[in-house]
Amino acid sequence: NGSLEVYEELQDLVKKYNLPVKIHLVEEVGHEPYAVNISGCHGFCQMGPLVRVEPGGVFYHHVKKDDVQEIVEKHILNNQLVERLLYTHPVTGQTVATQDEIPFYQKQTRVALEHCGRINPDDLNDYIAHGGYQAIARTLFNMTPEKVIKEVLESGLRGRGGGGFPTGRKWQFAASAQGPKKYIICNGDEGDPGAFMDRSVMEGDPHRVLEGMMIAGFAIGADEGYVYVRAEYPLAVKRLKRAVAEAEKAGLLGDNILNSGFSFKVNIKEGAGAFVCGEETALIASIEGERGMPRPRPPFPANKGLWGCPTIINNVETLANLPSIILKGGKWFRGFGTECSPGTKTFALAGQVAHTGLVEIPMGMSLREIVFEIGGGLRENKKFKAVQIGGPSGGCLTKDHLDLSLDYDELRKAGAMIGSGGLVVMGEDTCMVEVAKFFMGFVQNESCGKCVPCREGTKRMLEILTAITEGRAGEEDLLLLEELALAVQDGSLCGLGKTAPNPVLTTLKYFRDEYMAHIRDKK
Ligand code: SF4
Repeated sequence: NGSLEVYEELQDLVKKYNLPVKIHLVEEVGHEPYAVNISGCHGFCQMGPLVRVEPGGVFYHHVKKDDVQEIVEKHILNNQLVERLLYTHPVTGQTVATQDEIPFYQKQTRVALEHCGRINPDDLNDYIAHGGYQAIARTLFNMTPEKVIKEVLESGLRGRGGGGFPTGRKWQFAASAQGPKKYIICNGDEGDPGAFMDRSVMEGDPHRVLEGMMIAGFAIGADEGYVYVRAEYPLAVKRLKRAVAEAEKAGLLGDNILNSGFSFKVNIKEGAGAFVCGEETALIASIEGERGMPRPRPPFPANKGLWGCPTIINNVETLANLPSIILKGGKWFRGFGTECSPGTKTFALAGQVAHTGLVEIPMGMSLREIVFEIGGGLRENKKFKAVQIGGPSGGCLTKDHLDLSLDYDELRKAGAMIGSGGLVVMGEDTCMVEVAKFFMGFVQNESCGKCVPCREGTKRMLEILTAITEGRAGEEDLLLLEELALAVQDGSLCGLGKTAPNPVLTTLKYFRDEYMAHIRDKK
């Protein structure tokens, strides 16, 4: 999108003018000071390329190479703002200078994304200068594994990959399991259409992911970990590999870390992009070199996982929360969110909303606040119709749900789920039957084919949905679609099949009239 050109031009001009600018935090840890820093994702994706000038946090958006001269001459040399590159609110018309004044950021609480867009992900020193690896130091020298698990239990952290299972409880199972060796796997196999939360964390703050894995490893007694990351995320793969190499060189990974007696090795495993490999047992099979197919549980991976050893699989975002929980305490984390869903959650805001991007909010925030305050409402003054939350495993929510608390339990009651955090906003002219067909097409394609209800059921459901949208279906087909959806939900082996009917069931529940309109009008 032109960011690298902007970066290079900034570097050239800083040299040309011999500008006395530097990043003081980096200098404090003995790094050669430099003026222009790259960062990971700031979250406000549609506004890029972004340039933030520190100190002060002045935020310029849609910066092009040709704008750089003006930023340097006006802002850096003459302390004047480049007004035309500042953010202007699309509705109120108000222009603001700093990132903190932009509504998109104002209602966010950043824990997992704390450093994304703030540090250079390719620089270990930058991570350390921002408090990185302090949590593992505290873990190794001031805590026992039991104390770490207790802190995570107290935080109430639940798995952010979609399941929402309490992380501390999962760790307890693995900590007490017997095996010749134990493993930590970081699940970075994010595949929901429209979701890019894990990708941004891996690209923007890779050391945080490694630090989270080390904390988890110490807690359950594992000395080796895998990051399972999609090969379609080449920048994440590159940055993770670099982070592992940097941490190993600094004695922060490998044998006897910081002379603590704790050893931990991390391998990067690239997945080939099968959606089902996000399922724990399929992911393990894939690392072992087998075809990525789920297997029945029990045994659960915490008892018998990778190579038959006790294994904990945590999602990227779950792991990225751990350094803050260790440093600030479980109680602090519980201070955000709701009683049953503490903490924050990242969402990838996409679709017809005015401000798309990556956001992190306290659990329990209402859909209205996300869509209309953070997201700035719908583009082109369209009327809000629905959101698809949780990707193909989730469901749709309507305007009647705008004040619903976004947490695991309330969403489940509404027939949807947080999933990994995809949130696609749809306006008045979206056909909800087409939406259901799109997601059914996705899961049908991604079904691994191991069990009949999912393999055949999703195919037949897709056929009926296609017939409805092509005006070839009758009312009896709706009943069959519903019956099939319930059979696929009940009879499928893994989460992919069990949740595949959700988009159909929720659209049938809330937008049945649209299905009927297709059938009646034969279009
Ligand atoms: Fe494979 Fe679908 Fe069965 Fe899961 S539910 S094992 S994806 S066929």
